[in-house]
Amino acid sequence: MNKAESERLGSLLEQRGYRAVSTAETADLVILNTCVIRESAENKVVNKLHVLRRLKKMRPGMQIAVTGCFVDVDEAGLKRKYPQVDYFFKAGDLPGWIENISPVETLAQHPPVSVYVPIIQGCDNFCSYCIVPYRRGREHSRPMDEILREIRLLASRGAKEIILVGQNVDSYGKDLPEKPDLADLLTEVNRIDDILRIRFLTSHPKDMSQKLIEQIAGLNRVCAHINLPVQSGDNEILGLMKRGYTIEQYRALVARIRRSVPGVALTTDVIVGFPTETEEQFQSTVALLRAVRFDAVHVACYSPRSGTYAAEHLPDDIPAEEKSRRLKTVEILQEEIATDINAKLSGLKLAILVDGSTKSKWHGRTRSDKLVFFSAPGDYTGRELEVRIDRTGPWSLQGSIT
Ligand code: SAH
Ligand code: SF4
Repeated sequence: MNKAESERLGSLLEQRGYRAVSTAETADLVILNTCVIRESAENKVVNKLHVLRRLKKMRPGMQIAVTGCFVDVDEAGLKRKYPQVDYFFKAGDLPGWIENISPVETLAQHPPVSVYVPIIQGCDNFCSYCIVPYRRGREHSRPMDEILREIRLLASRGAKEIILVGQNVDSYGKDLPEKPDLADLLTEVNRIDDILRIRFLTSHPKDMSQKLIEQIAGLNRVCAHINLPVQSGDNEILGLMKRGYTIEQYRALVARIRRSVPGVALTTDVIVGFPTETEEQFQSTVALLRAVRFDAVHVACYSPRSGTYAAEHLPDDIPAEEKSRRLKTVEILQEEIATDINAKLSGLKLAILVDGSTKSKWHGRTRSDKLVFFSAPGDYTGRELEVRIDRTGPWSLQGSIT
């Protein structure tokens, strides 16, 4: 979501004649697009604001704007605490000096190969640990025709892959008059020529419909890749998290997805060290990861966020070292599983959409979202081509095109 919003802000500023520079030291305007999902992320923002305060002392003309989830309801309080900041504006809102530009007119001349397009803001779920509903507000879907217009324009300017983003994309459309859903939106995006691939994230296990699963299988441009955050493998912890599903329901959903979408890549999010999580409950998460064998797992140590139910009513009783040990256990296990899954791709020819290059190598992704590197003369940016997989590892693959 932040990536989508940063790209948008960048385009808006380019339209206004601004140009990106590589470091804050030479910038006239610095915008911090912040995340406070965990305390560590919030600390990074605070540190960066200190660095910028010193910088601004040396270069008084510099302007600083802060957006994203760091900006809470108490803007006056923030202004008092961080006087070096010229503007605070809420995630997704645009500040006064660029707000009169409508979204379609403001896209960059050359969008990247792969573009994040927000389709729904906010979240109505109130998982007990999560700050998102407090900072980003209730669910608010963008009208379907506005999204489609934007994607058509992106396609005409060279974008090849569209990633539809939202905190809970399965809720898309519930608040719109005609009540379209994500499956309807995917069907329409799938009709847009020149878009080779469509992805979407993030799905909520309690909201994923059979209709959507069937569309993923049936629409040729929609990639068979689903991020389905489970958070914990233990029912009691899932209850405390207020996730709205049991592990049995989650497993049944995974089985249904795998039956309907052969070869689907599944990724997930896990929190370790949630309040009261016993070793046995943690082992249920480990067992789940072994059983499902996800393509990737994003794992985080629980971090209390003030104002949330968990921070106010549950003890943060798992010591930091124990949280880290559980995190490490998940990481090591997942490295083994990913190594194994990826090794099976060795020798296969896979379609790669090339999104850029680093040093002497092109990089791109398979439809299942595996990162692949290959060397070849010429310019392959934005092209989809067959690459033979020569070597595999847990995080990326190496291939060749001859
Ligand atoms: N809407 C998505 C995820 C949004 S936040 C969902 O429902 O899963 C992204 C991830 O950050 C979450 O999946 C969760 O694993 C992690 N996260 C959120 N709040 C957290 C907290 N307080 N402590 C640790 N991890 C957290
Ligand atoms: Fe946070 Fe839960 Fe909403 Fe995801 S679904 S953004 S974890 S409240």
